[in-house]
Amino acid sequence: MLLTELSRDQLAAWCVEHGQTSYRADQIRRWIYGKRVSSFDAMHDVSAAFRTRLAEEFTLFSGKVVQHQVATDRTEKLLIELSDGQLVECVLMREEDRCTICISTQVGCAMGCVFCASGMLGLKRNLTTGEIVEQILRLDRLLGTEERITNVVVMGIGEPLANLKNVLPALDTLNDKGALGIGARRITISTVGLPEKIRELAEHGKPYNLAVSLHAPNDELRTTIVPVNRNIGIAAILEAADAYFDKTGRRVSYEYVLLADVNDHAEHARELGQLLRHRNAHVNLIPMNDVRELPYHDPVAERTRNFVAILASMDVPVTIRKRKGADIDAACGQLRLKAEEAKAPIPPATVPLTVKS
Ligand code: SAH
Repeated sequence: MLLTELSRDQLAAWCVEHGQTSYRADQIRRWIYGKRVSSFDAMHDVSAAFRTRLAEEFTLFSGKVVQHQVATDRTEKLLIELSDGQLVECVLMREEDRCTICISTQVGCAMGCVFCASGMLGLKRNLTTGEIVEQILRLDRLLGTEERITNVVVMGIGEPLANLKNVLPALDTLNDKGALGIGARRITISTVGLPEKIRELAEHGKPYNLAVSLHAPNDELRTTIVPVNRNIGIAAILEAADAYFDKTGRRVSYEYVLLADVNDHAEHARELGQLLRHRNAHVNLIPMNDVRELPYHDPVAERTRNFVAILASMDVPVTIRKRKGADIDAACGQLRLKAEEAKAPIPPATVPLTVKS
């Protein structure tokens, strides 16, 4: 069994069952999360006999790194092959004062957003808690001794709220002082917008940041870009996001990928502004990362500037996400897609969405 499947208390219970004190669990976790060891043998303050017992029962890693890309801006990306041969990817992004990682929560995705590489092959399965934590450990081991992960974004492959039962314990391990100790306020969960699950997350009681992938200011357009919207609707999402803010005090951010001639018109910006101007919200415009198989592209710079200016004039806080790792396949799902395509080619898509203006 993968040791990272267990919470601190579960590991402590296992230690006690096997004749140790629960403190042993804290020692083991310190070695794994604090000192970045890769084997039980390296845990010097644990007796040799108990280390053997641990190694009989558990593994520290279940997958293997099959690709490691490093971009000129020092963004690094790993492609991990899981024990059943499925592929998953995760990214490390460095900035002067922070080191952010981006992790995946599912193999593939069922949401089907039309501009996203992750969903092109459908959903294969949920990641387990241990497989989610494993990405973090792998990325952490790419860092120098003085470097630490400071921020986590759950924005890799998959819809995290569709796998909340495995995602929450993984985030709690990240957050846990005895493990990586990353503050909840430095952890962001990005969702396509599943209202019931947003409420469940709020009930969990930790002030994680919530980012909602809105991508359109009205249901008609959103349903063409984000097909699951058909059965949800923007109003229900905003209501759940408002309740999230009320419960946690965390300002919700709304992600919006600008797609040239699809959702980037001035009237879309105005409509978005109307939706968000009286909320505790923040718009994060994401430049489209081109996916070879998909016919969507970034708008020209002037369109983007205009979109920003309209939101700003309506007093809606807006930022443009920095593009990282542009010279590697750093956008969600691209590396996995490429690896899967090497096995079975996917023809390029031809007809883009057309939208009435
Ligand atoms: N399923 C979650 C999290 C994964 S994607 C969600 O929908 O939020 C994280 C963000 O990247 C989402 O806002 C998603 O819409 C966006 N994204 C996906 N593909 C992209 C692409 N090719 N270019 C830019 N952003 C993309």
